[in-house]
Amino acid sequence: MSIKKVRGLVIRESEHGETNKRLTFFAKEYGKITITAIGARKPKSKFLASAQLFTYSDLVLYDGGNYLTVSQSDVIDNFYAIRRDFDSLVLACYFCKLADKTVPYGTQADDILHLLLLTLSALCKGNGTPPELIAAAFETKFLQLHGFTPELNVCACGEILRGQTRTPSNDPVADTPLNGEAPRIWFGEEGVACDNCRAANSTRVTLAVLNAMEYEFGANLSAVFKLRADESTIKMWRGANKLLMRRHLDLDI
Ligand SMILES: [Zn+2]
Repeated sequence: MSIKKVRGLVIRESEHGETNKRLTFFAKEYGKITITAIGARKPKSKFLASAQLFTYSDLVLYDGGNYLTVSQSDVIDNFYAIRRDFDSLVLACYFCKLADKTVPYGTQADDILHLLLLTLSALCKGNGTPPELIAAAFETKFLQLHGFTPELNVCACGEILRGQTRTPSNDPVADTPLNGEAPRIWFGEEGVACDNCRAANSTRVTLAVLNAMEYEFGANLSAVFKLRADESTIKMWRGANKLLMRRHLDLDI
């Protein structure tokens, strides 16, 4: 029997036996692992706090060969404020589910773990940032960290749909022309598409959406939630993200 120290986040919990919990733990350096927390459902269990969904902690594990069990735990953050707002709670569950479905067992994915922790922290802080905007930013960066970035400028046929020389600011709305209706561009599974090339499931986006995506692709993780966007931009942005995640991560969300 060996001992292993891990730091990570509980992204799924389920009942196991009469008083135990089985945890899907997203661990730094190890990726996703399954852990059993013996007696964690007993009211006086020493693992009561650490064996909860969204809890980030240091654990000492016994490796029994077939399964890992918790022997010590030290909670770093439980992101408690998420539970005070229903929309944030639903989104936090969704973010953890996306990580659970796409991160393979035993494969290091520290950048995705880092993004997930920053996202839960952003939901807790609020700071006037709508949860839907946090979700849009998370989804775009999540896609990039999984190796996918859509084409934002040129259709597959070569038609240029968006200038390539501009420098994105952190305010995509301000970058949108204000004289009249913002132009709308088709967006498909690989990115922008012209009227002739667009697929049936394409969705409409504005330049503000493309600017927001470009900002996120260029942003380091600490800047992912600094972007501002209005409600209609966020809605179109999430529509495009949904299309991309369904196609490239096989996620029907
Ligand atoms: Zn085209």
